[in-house]
Amino acid sequence: MRCDMKEIGYQIVYSGRKTLSLQVEETGELLVRAPYFVSKREIEAFVLKHQDWILRQKERLQAKKELPEPKEADLLRLQADLQQILSHYAPKMGVTYSAFKLTSAKKRLGSCQPKSGRLCFSKDLWAYPEHLLEYVAVHELAHLKYPNHAPAFHAFVRSFLPDADDRRKELRNFSFDAAENSFERSRM
Ligand SMILES: [Zn+2]
Repeated sequence: MRCDMKEIGYQIVYSGRKTLSLQVEETGELLVRAPYFVSKREIEAFVLKHQDWILRQKERLQAKKELPEPKEADLLRLQADLQQILSHYAPKMGVTYSAFKLTSAKKRLGSCQPKSGRLCFSKDLWAYPEHLLEYVAVHELAHLKYPNHAPAFHAFVRSFLPDADDRRKELRNFSFDAAENSFERSRM
């Protein structure tokens, strides 16, 4: 939910489960699944206790994506692609963002500050194919309406991208193969 990478930010999903669990999402976001009766303090302690594990997961996620440095033209194209996707989907989704910027975030592809309407996207997205970039952008736009990953959030995303679940899986497995330059023209 924030652009600052130093703190461990996380989102809490409450449900009828009996134990706490952690999940690092494909976007690098941390989800804490919690029973209804657990306090914020207990959750905070749980996250702190497992911060080594969390960092390892984030590193593992990153290791799959050893990207070469983008050229200026790659970043300009990413900027333009994002602009196009955001201005196409924001009105359709009934949300308003105030600004977006590219960041050097390595462990998180996108983030959203619902209060200010600011969106951040990792420069690494320059190497991602269009349909995955689109998923990340729509995912972050959806957070302007649902600041969590509750089922309603995913249903909302799916109502605009019916194959969103497939794209999420693909995003999780996406790896960049520099030798093949396979990323090169998958984007229009
Ligand atoms: Zn998210």
